[in-house]
Amino acid sequence: MSVWSRRRLLGVAAASAAAALTRRLPVLAAPRPASVTDRGEYEPWLEIDAAALRRNVAEVSRLVEGRPILAVVKNNAYGLGLETVGPLLDPLPAIAGLAVVKADEAIRLKDAGVQKAVLVMGLVSESEAVELARRDVRLAPFARDAGDQLTRISRRLGRSVPVHLYLDTGMNRLGMPYYRAAPWIRDLAARPELTIEGTFMSFTEDLAFDPEQLQRFRDLADGLQRSGVKLGRLHAASSHGLFLRRDAYLDMVRPGLALYGAYPSGTAELGLAQLAPVFRLKARVVDVQQLRSGDSASYDRAYTASKPTWIAIIPAGHADGYPRGAVKGCQVLIGERLYPVIAAVSASHTIVEVGDQQTVEVGDEATLVGPDRPEITPNGVAQRAGVSVYDILMHLSALLPKRVTQG
Ligand SMILES: *Cc1c(COP(=O)(O)O)cnc(C)c1O
Repeated sequence: MSVWSRRRLLGVAAASAAAALTRRLPVLAAPRPASVTDRGEYEPWLEIDAAALRRNVAEVSRLVEGRPILAVVKNNAYGLGLETVGPLLDPLPAIAGLAVVKADEAIRLKDAGVQKAVLVMGLVSESEAVELARRDVRLAPFARDAGDQLTRISRRLGRSVPVHLYLDTGMNRLGMPYYRAAPWIRDLAARPELTIEGTFMSFTEDLAFDPEQLQRFRDLADGLQRSGVKLGRLHAASSHGLFLRRDAYLDMVRPGLALYGAYPSGTAELGLAQLAPVFRLKARVVDVQQLRSGDSASYDRAYTASKPTWIAIIPAGHADGYPRGAVKGCQVLIGERLYPVIAAVSASHTIVEVGDQQTVEVGDEATLVGPDRPEITPNGVAQRAGVSVYDILMHLSALLPKRVTQG
């Protein structure tokens, strides 16, 4: 018998003894874990569903009619774990490559064995650029003096450096401004020390302005291509573009969020693709107790029971990435039932109201975010907590242990 099932049995025995006592004593603390010596079992974890990830990639591929997908895995693969998600995406034929923003993440992907092209869509120092180019990571130049720098790097390495030119068409964040880009691109294209594999831009995702941005990009690209400049694959569409800018699919799409099974706001309703969350944020209940009428729970006595009420404590909180705003209406799945989040989400704990019956036990698995019910999907949680769906993924703690399942 495993340690766990033995513990479950002990827990059940303790629970039935407790139930017998409860009949005599209406207020009683729930059974405590039989053992607290094993680390790990009461730490929250992230379950990554490899099959769901593959299905989302297939669904996105279908939507974009087979165009290559440059999968964005920045910020620790949106919180899901770069070393977990990168190698799962890498072998899929629909995936052309992976994109990050930070140099360090590109190196981590290479260290994790990723074979496909990795693109860094951010500024890197020259020494980082050398190291990245040595490891065959694609750079995204946008600075005025990028040409000279890339030429120096190429000479050091003794080979041509593959790049994706980053253009700015109105975001005014990163990228060479489109109205200054033509001579800059001609100069880069004339240098044998670099290979232009792609040219890209980012949308502001302002529906009224996106078309103008796309027009600027197209006009520039058309003019250059007509005069023989090779720009490689043109790409612009993030998840927003997948749903709302079909005219911007161009030669390749560049989504992040959608691959992980979440929709940018206002896009799920379009019914264009069926995506499912690829992860579950889970933890085991660490305490179940009955509050007396008038008892409060958590800091600032955030919740007060108006009648005898069972509550359960889940050892995952905002430091793990579960939003503080979850108290505004989020629910947690335990067994087959959803329980409302009450009181306050603290750094490491979340409290749910169980009700007047004790239907939850210490050790039960709780799912705070996952595909199992609309209420707990990333979009469902974001909406109820009043935060962006990006926060639900990106704020997941990098320290959460990852367990990969196959569906
Ligand atoms: C984050 C990012 C993306 C992906 O955005 P999603 O909305 O997650 O699809 C694409 N391109 C750039 C430049 C990004 O920074």
